[in-house]
Amino acid sequence: MIDFADALRRVIFRAKPLAAQSVPLTGSLGRTLAQNVRARAPIPPFAKVTMDGYAVRADDSRPDAAGQAAELAVIEDLPAGRISRRAIGRGQAVRIMTGAPLPKGADAVVMVEDTEKAGTRVKIFRAVAPGDNIGRAGEDLEKGDLILEKGDLIGPAEVGMLAALGLASVRVVRRPKLAVIATGDEIVEPGKKAGPGCIWNSNGYSLLSLALEAGTEASYLGIARDKNSQLKLKIQKARSADILVISGGVSVGDYDLVKEELRSLGVRPVFWQLRIKPGKPTFFGVRGRQLVFGLPGNPTSAMVMFHLFVRPAIDRMLGRKRPGLRSAKALLEQEITVQPGRTQFLRGALVGEGPVLKVDPFPDQRSGVLRSMVKSRVLIVVPADSSRVEKGREVEILFLD
Ligand code: AMP
Ligand code: MG
Repeated sequence: MIDFADALRRVIFRAKPLAAQSVPLTGSLGRTLAQNVRARAPIPPFAKVTMDGYAVRADDSRPDAAGQAAELAVIEDLPAGRISRRAIGRGQAVRIMTGAPLPKGADAVVMVEDTEKAGTRVKIFRAVAPGDNIGRAGEDLEKGDLILEKGDLIGPAEVGMLAALGLASVRVVRRPKLAVIATGDEIVEPGKKAGPGCIWNSNGYSLLSLALEAGTEASYLGIARDKNSQLKLKIQKARSADILVISGGVSVGDYDLVKEELRSLGVRPVFWQLRIKPGKPTFFGVRGRQLVFGLPGNPTSAMVMFHLFVRPAIDRMLGRKRPGLRSAKALLEQEITVQPGRTQFLRGALVGEGPVLKVDPFPDQRSGVLRSMVKSRVLIVVPADSSRVEKGREVEILFLD
């Protein structure tokens, strides 16, 4: 039996970053950058007007000595997307729209609300200072600025930024291929009739969903009965996957054939049985570059083990900067008592609105109770040497989403 930290190290050590590929911008959401991205030109590339109004020389916008509003000659009309052909001289203005480049000679823009047009002339009711209502060239990014980095997840803002830089495609890390196999004579697919003693297959679908959410190209290979031949066939079918996840059949029961079958097909065991709860019978092995996880069949154990071990492996393959679940500290809302000896990962819900995080352990922590996963957003880490953690104590939590 090995400890959690040791087991996680062994998994992360064997998960190697995958190759890069080019994808169009529209297909980049949720992918991981395989390149650094710098601004090749200032953004915006020119001093840009930020209000509809009149481009002026700020000096010309002040009222005269008698307090009369300034009056300027309008020499041009400039919508966004056009460059002014003329420079503004003393006593002149250009009618201008948001997004247009500032004309030569002008150093400020008067909002249209502060003006009144009369024929070819405009009255200015509020003086402006140089720079008013103008965004300078490079105010968003200067040429050469590093804005996105290798290993960053591409979200909506990143997609927008890539587009703002004029990029139509981007280098991302290939998605790991992940295959899910469920096992068990008693497991029936949802939609099919579940006879006496049978239960519907939840793991096939929860694990597939976790895999998709983690950014893999996941496929579900169905249920293998607890017979060597069926298992063998499905494990062989998953040959080309980067990661194989099998649910059930890794414990010490008479029909727990997964380990034996994996071994016979050339999977080299790295660990089996961990000093953790849930997830004690978890198996991990490798076949060439393929990582193979045998997760306990109990629905909560299977999901928690995916979060704790499979996700960090996926993150590593994707070259993400910090593999695994984000952690934080929270104050415990209910006393916890546990059997010491194994690191425990209790399901919990965050309560209150902050500013201090508070966590409430789900009342039923048995590993067959899938309800706890539906109701929880975090795992509470209870160290192996604790038997009791009092209410109000600070605990480590791991975010599940
Ligand atoms: P096992 O790890 O195969 O011994 O299974 C442990 C428990 O999890 C048993 O009660 C199984 O019936 C249950 N179980 C196994 N596989 C699944 C599955 N795919 N969906 C839901 N429950 C499962
Ligand atoms: Mg089983």
